Amino acid sequence: MIVGIDLGTTNSLVGIYQDGQVKLIPNAFGEFLTPSVVALDDNDEIIVGKIAKERLVTHPDKTVSQFKRFMGTKHELKLGSRTYKAEELSSFIIRKLIDDVETYLGKEVDEVIVSVPAYFNDAQRYATKLAGQFAGVKIDRIINEPSAAALAKRSMLNQEDQSLIVVDFGGGTLDISVVELFDNIVEIVSIAGDNRLGGEDFTSVIAEEFLVANQLNKEAISREFYGKVLVQAEKVKLELNSKEEVQMVVLDEEKEFSLVLTYQRFYELCKPLLVRVKSVLDRALLDANNSYVTSNHFVLVGGTSKLRLVQDFLSYCTKQIMEVSVDPDLIIARGCALLAGIKERQGEIRDLLLSDICPFTLGIEIVGDHFSPIIERNSSLPASRIEYYSTSYLGQSQVKIRIYQGEMMKASQNLFLGELDVPVPINHQINESFTVRFTYDLNGILDVEVKIDSTQKVFSRAILQDSITLTEQEIKIKQAELSRYKINAQETEIYQFLVEKSNRLYAMLLGKRRNELMTATIQFEEQVNQASMYHLPKIYQSFSRYLDQVERGL
Ligand code: ADP
Ligand code: MG
Repeated sequence: MIVGIDLGTTNSLVGIYQDGQVKLIPNAFGEFLTPSVVALDDNDEIIVGKIAKERLVTHPDKTVSQFKRFMGTKHELKLGSRTYKAEELSSFIIRKLIDDVETYLGKEVDEVIVSVPAYFNDAQRYATKLAGQFAGVKIDRIINEPSAAALAKRSMLNQEDQSLIVVDFGGGTLDISVVELFDNIVEIVSIAGDNRLGGEDFTSVIAEEFLVANQLNKEAISREFYGKVLVQAEKVKLELNSKEEVQMVVLDEEKEFSLVLTYQRFYELCKPLLVRVKSVLDRALLDANNSYVTSNHFVLVGGTSKLRLVQDFLSYCTKQIMEVSVDPDLIIARGCALLAGIKERQGEIRDLLLSDICPFTLGIEIVGDHFSPIIERNSSLPASRIEYYSTSYLGQSQVKIRIYQGEMMKASQNLFLGELDVPVPINHQINESFTVRFTYDLNGILDVEVKIDSTQKVFSRAILQDSITLTEQEIKIKQAELSRYKINAQETEIYQFLVEKSNRLYAMLLGKRRNELMTATIQFEEQVNQASMYHLPKIYQSFSRYLDQVERGL
C-alpha cells in the first residue's frame, strides 16, 4: 500500500486513496492532525504528536518541535542526552503515522509519498528522502505542497478546465503558484515563494508592538518572559480575525503589562509583510505571463491563509472576494493521497497527470563570480539542459564546477548547492571545451554531468552537500539505530495524553486550584486501575472534560 504524508512544520497528516476516494487516517485521538512534536520519555522511548506537545511545557529539554526548518542542514536539536538531526526526528513522525495507518487499516505500508515546500532545495529534499529511509520505508516520490493542493482542489471542482492561483501560507513559508487544469492534466505554470515569511512573522509584529508600548527592550527581558509575550501575541493574532480590538495582558512576576491593539493598527504594522506577499504574488503572475490575473479561483491553504488580514489584503490587491478552501489544513494531505492513488493506477484517476516545474533557476558560477543559468525557473519537470563552456586560461589542469540555485546575477548571492572538481587535459594551444548537463527529476533532485569534449570523459554526481550524503551502508546503520527506539503505541495514548495534560496544567496553576487538580488526578488514576476495559472510554472522557474546564479557567 502507498500512503501520502504531509510532513508539516506544525502538524503532519497521512492519507490513502481507496474505493475511488481520498481517505485521511485518524490517529488514536480520532484526529487527522498529528502535531509534529517529538519527545523522549524517562525510559528513553519516543513519544510523537499530541502527548509530546503537552510535554513541551513540562519537559522542554526532552521535547522538540518546528524542526522541519532545519531539514537538510547540519543543525542538530537537543533531545535528552544527545542531539538529533531534523531528518532523524522526522523519521519518528513518519513511523508514527505509518503505525497509525497500519493499526487503522490492518494493512502494511510499503511506500510513501511526502510533500515538501516548493522552495525546498536539493539538500532539503534529500533529507526528506533520508527521513523515509530511516523510518524503514521507501519515499519514491516527493511532491511540492502547492502542487498537492492543486491536485486535491481539482477533484473538488465540477468544472475541470480552469486556472487556479494556489496560495500556501504556513507557519514559516509562503508559496504562490499558478495552475492550469485541462482534461486530465494539472499543470503548474509558475511558482514564486518566500521561505522566510509566515504566520510567525505576524505574531512577532504583535510581540514587538507590545514591547514598544510597554517600553521593554527585547535584549533586556528574560527568555521566559518573551516566551509568554509570544504565546499571548499568537492568541491576539487569532482573536483579531473576528474582533476589531483586543486587549493583551502579560504578567511578569508581580508586574502586569498590557496593550490594546486594534485591527486597523495591526494592518498598519503588518504593511511591510504584506508588501512581501504582494511581491510574491506579482512574481507568480508575471512568470505566468500575467494572463491569469483575472482567474477567479484563488485556493487558500495553510494556517496563515486563515488570517483575516491576509484575506483582506489579497482581496484588496485582486478586487476579488477571498474564501479559504474547505479544510485548508487537510488539502495538502489529500493531494498526497491522490498522488498515491495515481501511482497505484487506481480507477478513474489512473490517467491523471501532474505536470510540475522547477521553482528556481539552477546554474553554475563562471569567472568573476557571475552566474550562468542552466535550468531556468519554471521549466517543466523532468528537465534536462546542456550548456557549453571552456577553460578560462591556457594550460589549465582542472575546473571547479560550483553549483548554485537562485535568481541573482552574482553567483555568490545565490544559494550554493555543491561543487564538482573535474580534471581537464592540459592544453597550451587552445582552451579545452566541455559541456555541463543538469537533470532535474520529478522529485526535484538534481544530477550534474560534465563531459570533456576532447576526451569524451564524463564526470558526474548527484548534487548534495558532502556533509549530508550518506552511503547505503551508513543509512542502514542509522536505520537500525533509530529502529531500536520504541514509539508510543495507540492503546495507551489517550491515557498518557491526559496524564501529561494534567501535569502541564499542574505546573501552570498555584495554590488551591493546584491541590484540586492533584486530587482529581489521583482519583482518575485509581479509577483507571480498577475499571474494566469496557468502562475506560467513559472515565477518559469525563477526566478530559474536567481538564478542559481547568484549562479554560487559567
Ligand atoms: P506549516 O504548514 O508551516 O506547518 P500551517 O499551515 O499549519 O503551518 O500554519 C501554521 C500557522 O498558521 C501558524 O503561524 C498559526 O499561527 C497560523 N494559524 C493557524 N490558524 C490560524 C487562524 N485561524 N488564523 C490565523 N492564523 C492561523
Ligand atoms: Mg504547510
